[in-house]
Amino acid sequence: NEKTYIMLKPDAVKRRLIGEIVSRIEKKGYQITQAKLMTLDKKVIAEHYAHLLHKPFYPNLEAYMTSGPVFGMVVEGENVIAGMRQLMGPTNVYEALPGTIRGDYANNTTENIIHGSDCKEAATIEIKRFFG
Ligand code: ATP
Ligand code: MG
Repeated sequence: NEKTYIMLKPDAVKRRLIGEIVSRIEKKGYQITQAKLMTLDKKVIAEHYAHLLHKPFYPNLEAYMTSGPVFGMVVEGENVIAGMRQLMGPTNVYEALPGTIRGDYANNTTENIIHGSDCKEAATIEIKRFFG
């Protein structure tokens, strides 16, 4: 079974959306095999978003991702990496249609509720990073 790393970002936790989003993932037929709440530091965010360190919005992203606990999960299922990206909706929140998680719950491209690995290599690295 394919695995992906999904992370509900601090705004999802603050807004009490963990249950609702977990429920959507389960209704799709995917299985949550590991999960935990954790507070991330700047160092792990810099590793996780290394491809964005040079972007003008990085300081905002860093402040956001360290602003409170996140809910990290390992999610398993057939073609789950692409399937979860589809359920999440696109990065640009103005392109995320209703019916997707970002489209339904986010109104800002930085504070966009959820992370999902974008390929198998990233999933392996991210699961190791957050679950050891
Ligand atoms: P994630 O990696 O969090 O699942 P993603 O793969 O859809 O998101 P990335 O390009 O990896 O998108 O960007 C990581 C995160 O950085 C985004 O989820 C968002 O929080 C923030 N971000 C990306 N692009 C922008 C932007 N143009 N303006 C503001 N924030 C952005
Ligand atoms: Mg990404």
